[in-house]
Amino acid sequence: MRILVAGASIAGPALAHWLHRRGAAVTVLERAPELRPGGQAVDARGITKEVIRRMGLDAPVRAACTQTIGAHSVDAAGAVLETYRADDDGGDGFIAEIEILRGDLSRVLYEDTRAGVDYRFGEWIAELTQDADGVDVRFAGGERQRFDLVIGADGVHSSLRALVFGPHERFVRHLGHALAFYSVPNEFGLDRWLLEY
Ligand SMILES: Cc1cc2nc3c(=O)[nH]c(=O)nc-3n(C[C@H](O)[C@H](O)[C@H](O)COP(=O)(O)OP(=O)(O)OC[C@H]3O[C@@H](n4cnc5c(N)ncnc54)[C@H](O)[C@@H]3O)c2cc1C
Repeated sequence: MRILVAGASIAGPALAHWLHRRGAAVTVLERAPELRPGGQAVDARGITKEVIRRMGLDAPVRAACTQTIGAHSVDAAGAVLETYRADDDGGDGFIAEIEILRGDLSRVLYEDTRAGVDYRFGEWIAELTQDADGVDVRFAGGERQRFDLVIGADGVHSSLRALVFGPHERFVRHLGHALAFYSVPNEFGLDRWLLEY
């Protein structure tokens, strides 16, 4: 079976892992010119750890972990109200034992699959037509190919979904919540600890 996946972040390479393992010929298109780094921490708890183990990725994921030791909740004066440690609750606590940066997780998944999967960077789906047996696809670079199945793993604002099902406004509902992550100098002298005010 020939399967085309759009997006090489987290979902795309994870899906490529399982599809390739089941014998599919998988092509992954990533619009960015290379694997996108960056992003904050992703925690793996409970069943997620079992999924990582079944993928055979326990060792590389653990090797890429942030090694955060724990967190203190503090009041405005800096007095510690509560302390959490990565080994609380069998590693499934507030600070998870497996905490990995999004970009590192993406890289682990990509490295695991790159030998058996046809990754194309700087490429995306420009046009697709479906019939009863498959999908004819034209890549932005001009190449045409036919696949049995096309899967969108190109994120919340998926262009592939827009191409097939219509504009984002029909599917994305903003909940009015925004987060900003950025790097700052280590003014608090923190070493693998989190401070939460
Ligand atoms: C750079 C980056 C940083 C992030 N940081 C965080 C974070 O800190 N914390 C967090 O919880 N979540 C973060 N996210 C979102 C997080 O990855 C997702 O919430 C979740 O992991 C789902 O991932 P995904 O693979 O479904 O989609 P996404 O991670 O959104 O990845 C979609 C991928 O598809 C690619 N793409 C987009 N359009 C096309 C197209 N038309 N054709 C081919 N490829 C396309 C994008 O370049 C991207 O690589 C980040 C995402 C990105 C891209």
